[in-house]
Amino acid sequence: MQSYGVRLAEPKAGADSRRGGAGPSDHKAMTIDGMTVMVPVHTAPAFDSPYLVEKPDAFGRSVIRRDGLALGEVSFPLQPKFYGLTTADGIPYSKIAVLHGRDVLATTVLQSCIRYQSRTKTCQFCAIGQSLAAGRTIERKTPAQLAEVAKAAVELDGVKHMVMTTGTPPGRDRGAALLAESAAAVKAAVDLPIQVQCEPPDDDAWFGRLRTAGADALGMHLEAVTEPVRHRIMPGKAQVSVERYFEAFAAAVPVFGRGQVSTYILAGLGDSREDILATCERLVGLGVYPFVVPFVPISGTPLESHPTPTPAFMHAILGPLSGMLVASGLKAIDAKAGCAKCGACSALSTYERRACS
Ligand code: SF4
Repeated sequence: MQSYGVRLAEPKAGADSRRGGAGPSDHKAMTIDGMTVMVPVHTAPAFDSPYLVEKPDAFGRSVIRRDGLALGEVSFPLQPKFYGLTTADGIPYSKIAVLHGRDVLATTVLQSCIRYQSRTKTCQFCAIGQSLAAGRTIERKTPAQLAEVAKAAVELDGVKHMVMTTGTPPGRDRGAALLAESAAAVKAAVDLPIQVQCEPPDDDAWFGRLRTAGADALGMHLEAVTEPVRHRIMPGKAQVSVERYFEAFAAAVPVFGRGQVSTYILAGLGDSREDILATCERLVGLGVYPFVVPFVPISGTPLESHPTPTPAFMHAILGPLSGMLVASGLKAIDAKAGCAKCGACSALSTYERRACS
């Protein structure tokens, strides 16, 4: 389903879907067999998907079919209560942070990026400017706003952890300073595990500062693992080499702990199965969790017509990778916060559970 997407007979079912924004998008959260997953619904491939979710019944449950054959039931997480609140200065909480998956509060602290200014530099999969242009978010979320929303999301909706990502600002810390002040403010307001996500900062001392500020986990996202693919797909971000990422991973793991540093790898951008698995092996050796997700093209980006990886390609990666993770003791379930813990954008944690049994 994550490769093909799904068609919705009732497009407004459940909580709002995500459109635009940083990272993977154009998804909708669905709960299937007790597992909440993010499934593409607004992408070009989703319109031709063999999967169809029927109109929900009075209890919000829908039947999902593949080529007409009923496969089971899906439900949609309800719109969170904190979406109904606004800050004292009149900003809706939903423009400051949103619900991901079932119980993750996610925010893009800075909704602009030095890499996004020009098409020659931008990451071709990224839509960080689209939700800003559409007025669905604000550019800069202050620490006080984030603290206020996080407290409400915990108290009203029971969110369990928080993801703070950022566009890359000018400056050598790559957004680490913004993330540190944001994490400190949230931690002062509410007891909520936090993952921060940024490019490797210039100075590894930032890892200690982020940890001291209250970040429990760190994501530094390679996205693509080989230099030719990185330079083709994300020419700006590829100026930071894979080797610099590995140096940063090696410095960050002793600070955050094994399995609390992770990286997002988008399968389907051109890296081979062998390249992805070889990189994962190196990452796992360092204690870094490689969160491999199927690439999903976002409408309005240069890659909007790029094909999604086939289920067979994902299976050929996630099968061996889950075995590697289980053997090394790095498991999604042990992550304190963040995408690895949430797992909704990939079937990897399901493969892990299968590898354990
Ligand atoms: S895996 Fe990460 S990006 Fe995907 S829904 Fe969960 S928190 Fe959001």
